[in-house]
Amino acid sequence: MTEEILRVENLHVSVGDVPILKGLNLVINRGEIHAIMGRNGSGKSTLANVIMGHPSYEITDGHVFYRGQALEDLEVHERARAGMFLSFQYPASIPGVQVGTFLKKSVSSVRENPPKGREFRKELTAAMSQLSMDKSFLSRYVNDGFSGGEKKRLEILQLLLLQPHLALLDETDSGLDIDALRIVAEGINEVAPNSASLIITHYQRLLDLVQPHFVHAMIDGNIVHSGGPELALELEERGYDWLDNAA
Ligand code: ADP
Ligand code: MG
Repeated sequence: MTEEILRVENLHVSVGDVPILKGLNLVINRGEIHAIMGRNGSGKSTLANVIMGHPSYEITDGHVFYRGQALEDLEVHERARAGMFLSFQYPASIPGVQVGTFLKKSVSSVRENPPKGREFRKELTAAMSQLSMDKSFLSRYVNDGFSGGEKKRLEILQLLLLQPHLALLDETDSGLDIDALRIVAEGINEVAPNSASLIITHYQRLLDLVQPHFVHAMIDGNIVHSGGPELALELEERGYDWLDNAA
């Protein structure tokens, strides 16, 4: 049975007075992987950020429903707890906070029955070895001096630990070499069957490893064309100019 996780209807979003999203529609059911592709500045990150409740983005018209609930009825601080997850395009560093502490805190604040110390360690070790992450990671400060690939791995580690209902992955593949990309893809593939996934990417190479059910082309704040996995190949090959008339 299909279970709707995310419904976006006629969504208009502004930053300051500037309209960025202009009537976007999108539905993602549990188990589905959707990919959004589009030029820089077309509004892809805006969509992910507004769903998570980033204060810079204002919904001026339209609706977002998360598991049947109007988004505005979910306080921003409740969203992660309600199973929404955003992997940032540019993860912030938190000097002074160690990765291990950070992960324990985020898991404890999101899960209904937070795992006890030893149990959590076990889970953490398993997830880290799956992502080929060294234990020394845990004592480093969050994203402080991390390479691009290390930042993205930490995002995927959180994804594995949090097992969200809705996973928004904003350019999680950028800056990864092929080995890291494979590892990141494995993490996404493990979580995806039980959640609703939205993958924002510029590149087909991630979508070779994580097969999307639907691919959407975004132009100037709107999804102007949707298709199956083959659309990603077409967009990479042909670019976006041929869709400009549809915008
Ligand atoms: P994409 O992720 O597709 O590259 P974004 O959603 O990041 O695009 O940006 C869409 C447009 O909104 C761009 O013109 C960008 O400059 C503007 N924008 C996004 N976030 C902000 C912000 N916090 N403040 C000002 N302008 C923003
Ligand atoms: Mg972006």
